[in-house]
Amino acid sequence: MLFLQKAKTISSAANILSSPIEYLKGVGPQRADLLKKELNIFTFGDLLNHFPYRHVDKTKINLISEINADTDYIQIAGQIISFEIIGQKKGRRLVAQCKDQTGILELTWFQGINWIQKTIHEGYSYLVYGKVTFYQGHPQIIHPEIEKLASEQAAGKNFLEPIYPSTEKLKAKGLGGRQIGKLTQALMALLTEKDIPENLPDEILKSLKLLKRFNAYRQIHFPSAAIEFDDAVKRLKFEELFLAQLRMNMLRSNRHRFSKGVVFAKVGELFNGFYKNHLPFALTNAQKRVIKEIRSDTATGKQMNRLLQGDVGSGKTIVAVLTMLLGIDNGYQACLMAPTEILAQQHFRIISSLLANINVSIKLLTGSTKAGERKKILNDLSDGSLKMLIGTHAVIEEMVRFNNLGIVIIDEQHRFGVAQRAKLWEKAAVPPHILVMTATPIPRTLAMTAYGDLDYSVIDELPPGRQPVTTVHRYESQRSKVIDFIRSEIDKGRQVYIIFPLIEESDKLDYENLMKGYENVKAYFPEPKYWISMLHGRQPPEQKEINMKRFIEKDTQILVSTTVIEVGVDVPNATVMVIESSEKFGLSQLHQLRGRVGRGADKSYCILLSGQKLGNDARERIRVMTSTNNGFLIAEKDLELRGPGDIEGTRQSGVLNFRLASIVQDRPLLETARNMAANILEKDPDLISAGNLPLKKFLQQPGQKVVWSKIS
Ligand code: ADP
Ligand code: MG
Repeated sequence: MLFLQKAKTISSAANILSSPIEYLKGVGPQRADLLKKELNIFTFGDLLNHFPYRHVDKTKINLISEINADTDYIQIAGQIISFEIIGQKKGRRLVAQCKDQTGILELTWFQGINWIQKTIHEGYSYLVYGKVTFYQGHPQIIHPEIEKLASEQAAGKNFLEPIYPSTEKLKAKGLGGRQIGKLTQALMALLTEKDIPENLPDEILKSLKLLKRFNAYRQIHFPSAAIEFDDAVKRLKFEELFLAQLRMNMLRSNRHRFSKGVVFAKVGELFNGFYKNHLPFALTNAQKRVIKEIRSDTATGKQMNRLLQGDVGSGKTIVAVLTMLLGIDNGYQACLMAPTEILAQQHFRIISSLLANINVSIKLLTGSTKAGERKKILNDLSDGSLKMLIGTHAVIEEMVRFNNLGIVIIDEQHRFGVAQRAKLWEKAAVPPHILVMTATPIPRTLAMTAYGDLDYSVIDELPPGRQPVTTVHRYESQRSKVIDFIRSEIDKGRQVYIIFPLIEESDKLDYENLMKGYENVKAYFPEPKYWISMLHGRQPPEQKEINMKRFIEKDTQILVSTTVIEVGVDVPNATVMVIESSEKFGLSQLHQLRGRVGRGADKSYCILLSGQKLGNDARERIRVMTSTNNGFLIAEKDLELRGPGDIEGTRQSGVLNFRLASIVQDRPLLETARNMAANILEKDPDLISAGNLPLKKFLQQPGQKVVWSKIS
């Protein structure tokens, strides 16, 4: 449940909100322990930020006779007329009969029986709320919310009672969704406006007609009317989004203002020589624009921290090459990191050949670099004679010392953890410029939120002459047609990928699955007419390299692989991508895989094979894939289907853990928050004007400090 993951809160030092939860009336040590364990509620403030998921209108009481097969949740007022424990062991349960003027309803408890027996008594009337289920044709409520009717009536009419997320264990201790409201009520009685001071500037409150903060907190728990509740939610959502935007923005603007970076003052011989004489193609306008952005960024004396997004095949590699040459021209070393050995090798191969006529030393360093070679590389790096290093995460190992590292390019960023990236900063006295390249398009809202502290470039244009990949969905039963199609493409001299999913958690089963697939493919495409290479995670690097190389050099027409191929592999002659069991892949993965074809001048195809039965989400993913090639649209859809928590590369950043706001549903509010944050900082970057003081004060509280300073 969403709420359960939300830990930390607004805790300011000597504030009542930082009081331990056990000190709240009605809590005590036992319940406090449970609240901590089950709901991450440690302080008064945590409880304040534990929001109800719904409100019950207490004036609305259903009759037992109204219950029918469609009844979902109901609230009744009735008298307990009997109590009975029945069943043994796991089936042991407490069953009560509850009677109103129209009938009898059964209430059942499997847990917390002792507590219920102590607190609920025969002959008394209660307000009962819960979900109706049917057992052998009889309606019942299992683990209802239940409380004395008298106290309820005392609470007065027209009262929207909050119901909170709770757990079975808490229910067993008398802290069900309803009872938590009693705690909140006790808490609210202790709080005054000064405990929840306003933190937004007046200007914003006025222009967006937002409730004041204290009022919003009160209304979200105990609304005086439904509309007040909506206003409270809006206010608190805005606050979350706005503060997140503000922090990100401040990080970025502070970096712009205060960071020290190496200066790439000139465009020198290497860059110019390559640009004028050896570029294999004319750059697209988008590529030119990005290179310009990088050039002006790196010339300022500030450290560049830039995210470069470009759809698969948009030509990010050449941007990386030119950026590295720029650094080397200015006397610095450059380094390019790739997430996999295959990709590192490919970069090395492609970049070495691009720069064959340029006088610059390039080496490849990966986990499988032989000891002797490695020693030489490390040596040449530290004396500065080696200018360009390409590799996997091996390049950030302790042992690797640069002489004067000026620029680091990270390809397919989401595969690198935050800690790994942080290591980079230790490689040079002045932190090197960083360019993060990703082909997994991130929706704008997500980029704004998760990477808002980075500068941002987009290559939104594909090189000319590309034909969009035609994507089709075929069922297993149509396999022979697919095979015929593959044969016809191979006859034209083209090459084909066939990808198998990683479906089991076990390496071994995946391997067996792939092997079976491979044998099948081989039966359809026998030697010597056809040759097949295979790639998978269990192969030693040399073998991977050999297999990849055979495919690149057209020795083999078919490459059978798991998703190790996913990221960045570039073989322009390959025109068919067949994805087996495509229903098992996520959208961004499918899009990445499809991006392996359509890289040359020839018409390309992506065939999504699937079983006959498809779940709704799988069907939707396949529909999206067959209807668009646009990576950004696909990313939006992915975000919608999976929610932000699962989008690669953002999970560890922690910035998407909003309590209330959703970057999918609250997009307009997010845009507003972003604009407002930018406006404020533009006028008052240090938040020193009187109007912004509440904001500044709030951000300076402990627990509000920015902790994501080195996302990249
Ligand atoms: P990605 O952005 O996915 O890393 P690559 O850099 O691998 O893309 O480029 C994809 C393919 O497009 C490569 O074969 C590359 O040589 C080619 N390419 C890149 N830029 C251009 C361009 N401006 N004109 C023509 N082809 C280009
Ligand atoms: Mg690439």
